[in-house]
Amino acid sequence: MSHPAKGTTAEPPEATGLSPAEAFALLGNDTRIEILQALLDAGGDERPIPFSDLYERVDIDDSAHFNYHLKKLTDHFVRRTDEGYEFQYPGRKVVRSVFAGMFTDSARLEPFEAPGSCYDCGGSLFAWYLDEHLTIECEACGATHVNYSFPPGGLDDRTPGELLQAFHHHVRHHYCLAADGVCPECMGKVETTVSRTAESSDLDVAVVHECTRCRNRLHSSVGLNLLDNAEVLTFHAERGVDLSTRPFWTFDWCVSDERTTILSEEPMRVRLDIPCGDDAMCIVLDDDLDVVDVDGCARPIEADGAGGADRARETGGADDD
Ligand SMILES: [Zn+2]
Ligand SMILES: [Zn+2]
Repeated sequence: MSHPAKGTTAEPPEATGLSPAEAFALLGNDTRIEILQALLDAGGDERPIPFSDLYERVDIDDSAHFNYHLKKLTDHFVRRTDEGYEFQYPGRKVVRSVFAGMFTDSARLEPFEAPGSCYDCGGSLFAWYLDEHLTIECEACGATHVNYSFPPGGLDDRTPGELLQAFHHHVRHHYCLAADGVCPECMGKVETTVSRTAESSDLDVAVVHECTRCRNRLHSSVGLNLLDNAEVLTFHAERGVDLSTRPFWTFDWCVSDERTTILSEEPMRVRLDIPCGDDAMCIVLDDDLDVVDVDGCARPIEADGAGGADRARETGGADDD
């Protein structure tokens, strides 16, 4: 049996660095994918799995043949320890992607009813799933409330209601992660800008997150990025609304710019008025999405509902940090 360091220098295995083409070449074999899946099934996530246990779980009748494939994975996707084999980060990622149906499933769901009503016309919403994306739109006016990728594996064993709940968590976490500067796809560094958008967009002002590593781009309303903001969460919690579970697309401030006001462009200051029950809070952000000011957490909602220019306050002199 091979030693883990065979064929490499004494560097930690993670540092040996495969090119993407080499990584895909190593994975381009059913037995190796089966070995990774067997490792996960056997609990390789938590503890090392002995060679014999792993061998038993894979449909192969020749241990030399099995060992050959296992060696190919070793030092890149799995690590050999004294007690057996365990995942390295890339191996765990690959096998999770397989389970998420990223490479295999082609699923679609015909339109079904979704909770909430249209921010624009009050019409009812419906959702559908196609090309690994879930979309929620207004039945009456066609306004898109959300369109975001969701792995097909997430459709398994879920009712439409459970699927929408899972989708809510998925999107919310992705945007919160991106707003914190972490790419939800590759964990690379994310640059965030708040800016006026091109005329092709439905939004006057939008937040764009772009990963400096994999170029993953997320584009959204301002509000969607504030679902884990402490003050926004507290404001809702005090009024009996749990933002972690209530579908975000049922809030107009999350999916549209109806409640967004540009206070100034140089420097960029955007105000978001967030209603809840009979109250509204207001939050002012700069072009990095940093909170410049929060106030009015218990202010009665104004007659026009969306806040008006009459309430625009002096923010130009506010501190940036
Ligand atoms: Zn509508
Ligand atoms: Zn990335």
